[in-house]
Amino acid sequence: MQTELPAGFAATPSGARAESILRSCVHCGFCNATCPTYQLLGDELDGPRGRIYLIKDMLETAEVTPVVVQHLDRCLTCRACETTCPSGVAYGELLEIGRAYMEPEAERGLVDRWQRRWLKAVVPKPASFRRWVRLGRLFRWLLPRRLASQVPAPGRRSARRSKARKRLARRVVLLEGCVQRVTTPGVNDALRALLGRRDVAVDSVAEEACCGSLALHLGDAEAAEASMRRNLDALAPHLETAGAVISTASGCGVTLKDYGRLLVADPFYAPFARLLSDKLMDVSEYLATLQPNFKRARDVRRVAWHAPCTLQHGQKLNGVVESLLVGAGYELVPVQDPHLCCGSAGTYSLLQPDLAEELKHNKLAALTGGGPEVIATANVGCQTHMSPDAPVPVVHWVELLR
Ligand code: SF4
Ligand code: SF4
Repeated sequence: MQTELPAGFAATPSGARAESILRSCVHCGFCNATCPTYQLLGDELDGPRGRIYLIKDMLETAEVTPVVVQHLDRCLTCRACETTCPSGVAYGELLEIGRAYMEPEAERGLVDRWQRRWLKAVVPKPASFRRWVRLGRLFRWLLPRRLASQVPAPGRRSARRSKARKRLARRVVLLEGCVQRVTTPGVNDALRALLGRRDVAVDSVAEEACCGSLALHLGDAEAAEASMRRNLDALAPHLETAGAVISTASGCGVTLKDYGRLLVADPFYAPFARLLSDKLMDVSEYLATLQPNFKRARDVRRVAWHAPCTLQHGQKLNGVVESLLVGAGYELVPVQDPHLCCGSAGTYSLLQPDLAEELKHNKLAALTGGGPEVIATANVGCQTHMSPDAPVPVVHWVELLR
């Protein structure tokens, strides 16, 4: 694709990167075939190729039109298009640049502005998010149905305990995540117990901050980088000694693995960011290194596996969780169109509720078609988004291992 970006912008790191990504696209349109929003809406501008053209026009003309805002807002950031693209177009990175460019100029209604501000101010802070979730549960009956279904049910803590730390030889750092530690704390409890039995000590980071993915998705690069720096400050004392840094939420993991790229221009933080990216492992990658001999839960056999987009398209981890579940004795039921997003997509289910609902219902139909006893996934967002409407429990796959 030919580009004519203004010289001033093309000379910036974002401009140079955008130009190189745009030039790698050959307009073939293969990516439209796997794009969930293109499939639902059938509009070229709601597919990756159309969005790439919109971003190109915006960067060339420096005009942020309502059409650009509408169609970039509707993108799930699921990156299924990246998996499909034969030319290796880094669509996710281009979208990140496009949204950061668009956001300061985007004209938004009062409710939209308020929602975005609320999301950035509350969700990354577990204490305040917990207060809002409690309020939501208390007044759920007053909320519109769509909003009420977004309020997570109380998460169970696991009764399983790990061994005393001093007896354990290996150490890992577990990042607990802002949303996960409030809504599904039992996931990290279950992992601690599993690792404790395999002589792995699990350290927490008292000052752990938001990984920055929420602000990044909302096009606020400055807030995202500030979060990343806070997180690195908190992690710094652990980085050298930890064998690995583990994330159980694939939505956080995909951003944490990308710190090295995202902070490359920061002379102070870049080395720490690279070190974190190198040590960061999705929990499935780490458990697969332990010569796993896990057992399945006694009362469950048939599982429908939902690979979050951040795991399959973002981290490109396909087949790892599946092997661990099958190795533990589970039967994975067939699922149609496993590449499609469930509609959670970070803040998408709040900001684009109609599309998110449609995607969720399609996904649940695909997941339950094979008659599973549970649905297993790897990201707190997918879990809490699908749970209220799922006919069987939706769990994090780690909770299925003994
Ligand atoms: S598949 Fe890749 S090269 Fe083809 S239009 Fe989509 S992004 Fe461009
Ligand atoms: S990220 Fe997902 S929703 Fe967005 S253009 Fe790509 S496939 Fe479509």
